Amino acid sequence: MRGAVPVFIVVAIAILIALQILRYWRRPKERTFRCAKCSTPTVHTGRTIEAWRIGKQKFFCDSCHAQWLQSRATQIASRRAESSGCLGIIVVAVATPLIAYLVVKALT
Ligand SMILES: [Zn+2]
Repeated sequence: MRGAVPVFIVVAIAILIALQILRYWRRPKERTFRCAKCSTPTVHTGRTIEAWRIGKQKFFCDSCHAQWLQSRATQIASRRAESSGCLGIIVVAVATPLIAYLVVKALT
């Protein structure tokens, strides 16, 4: 029985590797989930399984996800508008002293 221990180790390593592979390929227990927004029962897709793997607890159906993407796009667009507003403030901040300087120079 001299070979018993190495065989046991090999089997243990094989099980560990198999568990790692299973962990990578694991899927949510339920095939379906309830959308966190509209509570529609929805079948898991690659997107939600990926989210589940990284530990997300809330899942959204395709239409809510599309809505979210759209709202995010508008958020980014409004953020862009805000930053151009900031640019406007900078232009005013630079132009006001310049105009004041020119006015003072013209008066003196
Ligand atoms: Zn939904």
